[in-house]
Amino acid sequence: MPSLTRSEATRRATLIDVTSMEVDLDLDQGPDTFGSTTTIRFTCREPGAATFLDLRPHELASLTLNGEPIGPEELVDGRVELAGLAADNTVVAATTMRYSRDGQGLHRAVDPADGEHYVYGHLFLDAAPTVFACFDQPDLKAPYAVSVTAPEGWQVLGNGGATQVRPGRWELARTQPLATYFVTVCAGPYASVRTEHDGIPLGLHARASLREPLERQAPQMLEVTRACFDHYHGLFGVRYPFGEYHQVFVPEFNAGAMENPGCVTFRDTMVFRGAAARDEVLTRSNTIAHEMAHMWFGDLVTMRWWDDLWLNESFAEYMAHRTCVAATEFTEGWVDSTVARKMWGYAAERTPSTHPVAGGAALDTQAALQDFDGISYAKGAATLRQLIAHIGDDAFIEGVSAYLREHAFGNGTLADFLGFMERASGLDLGGWSRAWLLTAGLDVIAADQESGVVTRRAPAAHPADRPHTLDVAGFTGRREVFRVPVTALGDTTDCAELKAAPPAHIVVPNASDLTWATVALDSDTLAAVPRGLADIPDPQARAVLWAALVDGVCLATVDPRLVVETFGAAWPAEDNESVLNRVATAVLGRVIQTFLPPDEQDGAKAVVAKAAQELLSRSVPGSTTALLAARFLARSSADEGLLRDWAGRQHLPAGLEGDSDFRWLVVRNLAGRGLVDAEDIEAVRRDDDTLAGRLGALGARAALPGAEAKEWAWHELTTNRERSNYELNALAGGFWSEDDLDVLRGFVPRYFAEVPPLSAWVGADALGRVATLAFPARVVERATADASAAALAADGVLTPAVRRSIVDADSELREALRSRQRFDVTAA
Ligand SMILES: [Zn+2]
Repeated sequence: MPSLTRSEATRRATLIDVTSMEVDLDLDQGPDTFGSTTTIRFTCREPGAATFLDLRPHELASLTLNGEPIGPEELVDGRVELAGLAADNTVVAATTMRYSRDGQGLHRAVDPADGEHYVYGHLFLDAAPTVFACFDQPDLKAPYAVSVTAPEGWQVLGNGGATQVRPGRWELARTQPLATYFVTVCAGPYASVRTEHDGIPLGLHARASLREPLERQAPQMLEVTRACFDHYHGLFGVRYPFGEYHQVFVPEFNAGAMENPGCVTFRDTMVFRGAAARDEVLTRSNTIAHEMAHMWFGDLVTMRWWDDLWLNESFAEYMAHRTCVAATEFTEGWVDSTVARKMWGYAAERTPSTHPVAGGAALDTQAALQDFDGISYAKGAATLRQLIAHIGDDAFIEGVSAYLREHAFGNGTLADFLGFMERASGLDLGGWSRAWLLTAGLDVIAADQESGVVTRRAPAAHPADRPHTLDVAGFTGRREVFRVPVTALGDTTDCAELKAAPPAHIVVPNASDLTWATVALDSDTLAAVPRGLADIPDPQARAVLWAALVDGVCLATVDPRLVVETFGAAWPAEDNESVLNRVATAVLGRVIQTFLPPDEQDGAKAVVAKAAQELLSRSVPGSTTALLAARFLARSSADEGLLRDWAGRQHLPAGLEGDSDFRWLVVRNLAGRGLVDAEDIEAVRRDDDTLAGRLGALGARAALPGAEAKEWAWHELTTNRERSNYELNALAGGFWSEDDLDVLRGFVPRYFAEVPPLSAWVGADALGRVATLAFPARVVERATADASAAALAADGVLTPAVRRSIVDADSELREALRSRQRFDVTAA
């Protein structure tokens, strides 16, 4: 299927304007297909000219242009030519469409808890033609009138407020102009909580089997929603323009959430069926704030073409953190940003796939999808913080507000956005945007207290002259000895205040994490960190230190053993839950498993287990901190007695008595150690026959050791076409968790031969994730890198999404090989 190119989109937008879209869906045709009839009205600036319609139906029943039939043979590769256009045109397409199982298009899922079916539309990035006929590009916006036939007893939700006009028949209010990619319909026996705020009807919805946790957690989610509406209304000076505001928690969702105007979809693991850590509630609140920011930035004003996707995401990412800190209880939001988001973005900068924040070519839609990463989100947001440091917050907000008003219900570009920033600030931003937005790479920042010099080193591959606004702080014991602001404009900056400050044991460049840079720690600081990190009173500075340590491991400048040592000493004393969760995940999931040689991994896991036990012992029973500690103990412990007790629901930590998600963590650990078998896992699943329970069971089965168990999991992963996107993730995520390299090694060549062909039935969005999870990252050997290089060298075999996953995973593998070479004298 050809991907829409930028030049095709430009030509089509020059030629036509879509004036209205009518979509009528019949979701009452059984579990496999649905009916879709679309009426498109559009004008043409050059009567007589031709354009094309996007349509990917299961069956095309009829198609007319201005009343004249067009035969089904005219549909080629998802396109139909529309020739001889009039000034005013009407296209009517009657089709049967297929539901998806990979989270793209109109996805249909069955809840095993009660057998109920749920449908939701996720049309980002280019799946709209699998649901209705359209001109699928972001700058051909039109108002939508959607009607839906659904089984009786279902509820229908969408971008416009829904009314049931007779049993099973729903009409949705005509919308403001929308881009195709954020049109949605959600339907099924969803459970709902409804209320209103400031004249805006609000709804929260989830599967019926999640009704109890949805109702229990609704007050917190609604409080955040209300606070964000108030905050954004005050900040932007433009009212929320899309009528009702529904937040729908849907099954098997690929992303975290999607900003469909008036009807945001979230992955429904965000409705916590068991105990929730503060970090998880923070992340959900941040996601709520992020999607709401998109109502203005992305939905009211949309990027003209996908190359400005960063403008949507950077802005929403930045606004979400800012708003959580300013308007909710999560005042620690920027610390979370350091460990949850910036570490992700720094990792993206280290791979060969790194790219500038803005100005990528994005020659077609699928190419644009590949830039949808830690650069577009985390770096973009950090760049906006630097922009604000550069031009001032008042100018930034004034510029944003003017941009939103000027381009309301239309589209904008980077040049438009910068124009508003320049007018509001009176500054020329040409040089600034070249260095920060149009050049890839991140600088290394270091501070030498003795000489008072701050150095900034741009990467050789991406030279740039980025000005940084940051601070440097020094700590000795529990005391902050100094904190000095620095504007780093050249490769070296003399900072008299730093030189004059009293000496400190630990010096933290970028301590407030204002800028985007790799922080290089001096050798005295590195030596002091294992004992000293826990004493630092500022959680933001601690987060920056953790990020610097993990980055250092990846860059082979910090010995992974130093990170494990620091973890054992500092982690149990940590009180910021984002730091606890994200750092433990990075240390357990990456530093230990890939950077340490195999014979040291068990010892390092024991350090994590001991730290988790220590934190659990000193935490208030039932607290969210105790929950995090228990989870990491369940994941890392080698204590068979403890694990068997917990799996059997004996002697559980307070608050985890009926927590099935916690039980699956324990069972997964037991499975990886070969201490349970497939029958035991099946027995636990019978106890928890839900979507989450089935995924827990699949992950645990995939984790079982031995050639036979691995063969089963691999076969399910690579050949069973009935598996949903989430089931594939569970299989791939569990597969590499055992330690027997002799067995795992055999699957290295099979990964490269058997995972890429999944593209025949798994969509790009879903497969990118599967290909990352299934990559043989545990087999840190030269042969794995060679196999990966060979796969990347073969032309025309890999889809763009799979290629991107392999490029990134290969780069991480090589980081581990380099580190082992530098720090492990016995490494192969
Ligand atoms: Zn977003």
